[in-house]
Amino acid sequence: MDWKEVYEAQEKGVLNAQAGRCMDCGVPFCHQGCPLGNLIPEWNDLVWRDKGEEAMERLHATNNFPEFTGRLCPAPCEASCVLGINQPAVTIKQVEVSIVDQAFDNGWVTPLPPARLTGKTVAVVGSGPAGLAVAQQLTRVGHTVAVYERDDKIGGLLRYGIPDFKMEKDHVDRRLDQMKAEGTRFRTGVAVGTDVTWEQLRRRYDAVVIATGATVPRDLPIPGRELEGVHFAMDYLVPANRVVAGETVENQINAAGKHVVILGGGDTGADCLGTAHRHQAASVTTLAIGKQPAAERAPHQPWPTFPTLFEVASAHEEGGERTYLASTVEFVGENGKLTGVKVAETEFVDGKRLPKAGTERIIPADLVFLSLGFTGAEPAGITEQVHADFDGRGNVARDGYYMTNTEGVFVAGDAGRGQSLIVWAIAEGRACAAAVDKFLMGSTTLPAPVAPTDRAISVL
Ligand SMILES: Cc1cc2nc3c(=O)[nH]c(=O)nc-3n(C[C@H](O)[C@H](O)[C@H](O)COP(=O)(O)OP(=O)(O)OC[C@H]3O[C@@H](n4cnc5c(N)ncnc54)[C@H](O)[C@@H]3O)c2cc1C
Ligand code: SF4
Repeated sequence: MDWKEVYEAQEKGVLNAQAGRCMDCGVPFCHQGCPLGNLIPEWNDLVWRDKGEEAMERLHATNNFPEFTGRLCPAPCEASCVLGINQPAVTIKQVEVSIVDQAFDNGWVTPLPPARLTGKTVAVVGSGPAGLAVAQQLTRVGHTVAVYERDDKIGGLLRYGIPDFKMEKDHVDRRLDQMKAEGTRFRTGVAVGTDVTWEQLRRRYDAVVIATGATVPRDLPIPGRELEGVHFAMDYLVPANRVVAGETVENQINAAGKHVVILGGGDTGADCLGTAHRHQAASVTTLAIGKQPAAERAPHQPWPTFPTLFEVASAHEEGGERTYLASTVEFVGENGKLTGVKVAETEFVDGKRLPKAGTERIIPADLVFLSLGFTGAEPAGITEQVHADFDGRGNVARDGYYMTNTEGVFVAGDAGRGQSLIVWAIAEGRACAAAVDKFLMGSTTLPAPVAPTDRAISVL
């Protein structure tokens, strides 16, 4: 029931044994599985040889923030590990987090300030993993970088989206200390578009990076949506995280003693589940409209692709009911207050998921959290002030070099690719930084692990 991270540090002997299982394959498919191209066999070998500091250097060569991915990544690398063909994959993610935690504990993570300044300036808007990766890369090659964030604290979803039981916030703070010491400047409490306009930034800086995330939640406009008790997941998670951080929040949604129904079975739903249990909800039911994913790889998702599997996060292990093939048809209530959710069995008609007539039932509910994903970036300000176009999927459109249709304005992370993963946000941030550096200087030495069009997690 506490808010501390659920997973604890692994014993050294087990870690060394895991790192020693890595076969240093001729073709290490894990490189391909990891969007960052992490040099997994190299750092496994160094861990096995007890060369922790060198392992940290190899890890940081491709990943600015392994303490985030080592805790939160779904580890597509492990799905493509060659050992995984006929036995459990190497526990790559756990080795990764152990390397970086040991490095911080031993004081090996030090600031890497640039040798000289270029005189060029960059504004990065948004301080999630994409914005932070862009900023760290560009600061280290000598540009003067300011990160603008509308929240009171830096971190994006790492700070106020993801609960502490998945990642405690001191991991974000100690990385920010390194970035500040390297010279990155942070401006919190500034909403770009209102407090300062995008045009002003464009005039003041040589380049501007949009890293504002995909924050528009997907709604479910069915009868009863207006009832008291039906909320977007983030309206529940953000205040809960603030309270855990010691802040006072007025009118916080509290699940204590209530029957909670979560619509949507992804990461956000699991975070609501773990939070509701900690708030001592009377019951928590997660409803998913689709089928329960398989426990084993399906034939059409062979190794080394990233398969869709039945996921059991720590929050699921803690309890709650998971119901699949459940189509929500109505929120029911009395006197304006939610009392239940009417669901029907999902049936597939011409490829569409529809509620099957005659199968409706009511699940009692005092609170519903809509965790149905996000429809894209917030267009306000970006469209009118900086004239950046959006694509048909609600994302800020960009060319093959992360530039929007406005010269000198770039986009990285969820704002450009839609709601995704931390590992992709960091990979895009690194690649976008390379594009910005080339735009400013004519050439670049920064690596570009992914192109804006890369979507698959694991490809052959
Ligand atoms: C609840 C939840 C749990 C998740 N769990 C996981 C997980 O376990 N593993 C995983 O890999 N991924 C997870 N994800 C996805 C992951 O968090 C995102 O893909 C990632 O954070 C995207 O990074 P980003 O930098 O593009 O955007 P964000 O992290 O969304 O950061 C964008 C930042 O921009 C700021 N901003 C927006 N507009 C403005 C403006 N106009 N002016 C100034 N600032 C602005 C926002 O306040 C925010 O801080 C989760 C997502 C959610 C919602
Ligand atoms: S970042 Fe994710 S995919 Fe890459 S090595 Fe770490 S756990 Fe694996």
